[in-house]
Amino acid sequence: MNENLKIAVQKKGRLYDGSMALLKECGIDVSNGNNQLRVQAANFPLEVFFLRDDDIPEYVQDAVADIGFVGENVIAEKNKHVSSVEKLGFGKCRLSIAIPKTGAIKTVADLNGKKIATSYPLVLSNYLKEKKINATIQEISGSVEIAPKIGLAEAICDLVSSGSTLFSNELKELETVLQSEALLISNKNLSAEKQSLLEKLLFRIKAVKKAKNNKYVLLNAPNNKLDAIVKILPGMKSPTILPLAESGWSSVHSVISENDFWEVIESLKANGAQGILIVPIEKMIV
Ligand code: ATP
Ligand code: ZN
Repeated sequence: MNENLKIAVQKKGRLYDGSMALLKECGIDVSNGNNQLRVQAANFPLEVFFLRDDDIPEYVQDAVADIGFVGENVIAEKNKHVSSVEKLGFGKCRLSIAIPKTGAIKTVADLNGKKIATSYPLVLSNYLKEKKINATIQEISGSVEIAPKIGLAEAICDLVSSGSTLFSNELKELETVLQSEALLISNKNLSAEKQSLLEKLLFRIKAVKKAKNNKYVLLNAPNNKLDAIVKILPGMKSPTILPLAESGWSSVHSVISENDFWEVIESLKANGAQGILIVPIEKMIV
């Protein structure tokens, strides 16, 4: 039997664009033109279900969907029986406790005896237990940032990325409770056929992620500086070195990681590299 892998993605919201872009970068064509609930991919045995992000862990646990793209924050709060397969590198945010800019609360210990509004009661209560803080949790489902202003709570625990929502509500971050990004989750009892489709998809996701974290670099260098430059540029195996038309000079090609990008470029320059070109990599299979 030819089975389809069923994936749950957010119908609309902050994870939608990243989820669809990732599938596209994996070479999977999904058109969601008519705002449908489910769509069959054109060129991969994948059926996409568009759902509210909060429901995704449960649907994956119950095998309504086999896999899903969802925030780590939602996984932590929903506490469902699913496997976390791979971080996806988008939807980055943090769950933080925030307090009024001017007010009695200055430290985490000051939260004792106070009320904190949140949509993440489970994650927050675990955090408070760990920090031995005795505060009341007021669960609300949205617009958490207005809770202090309307007198519902003295502090909040909510998702933050730029901090602009906090700023415009005269709040400031006190503590990060959880760092989060989008995650690929899967049902724990996939059939062998679905497991192998998941592995195929995961192989592509890893190649896309790796390519994003790396850049292709080309540079020219005098031959007497090549040893030093090769040490700075390990590349995937070792750099490619080609002679230039001008004698005594070579062209060096390699791959460098986004993490230490500027440090590497600076030391390349300091070691005599010239005409440095940086090129994005589309896919990277190692
Ligand atoms: P839904 O209708 O699907 O329930 P929602 O309103 O709960 O949507 P969004 O605000 O679209 O959800 O957020 C979806 C996810 O995006 C969050 O759970 C989180 O993982 C991630 N995210 C990234 N940055 C932020 C941010 N600044 N604020 C809120 N969520 C963010
Ligand atoms: Zn939601």
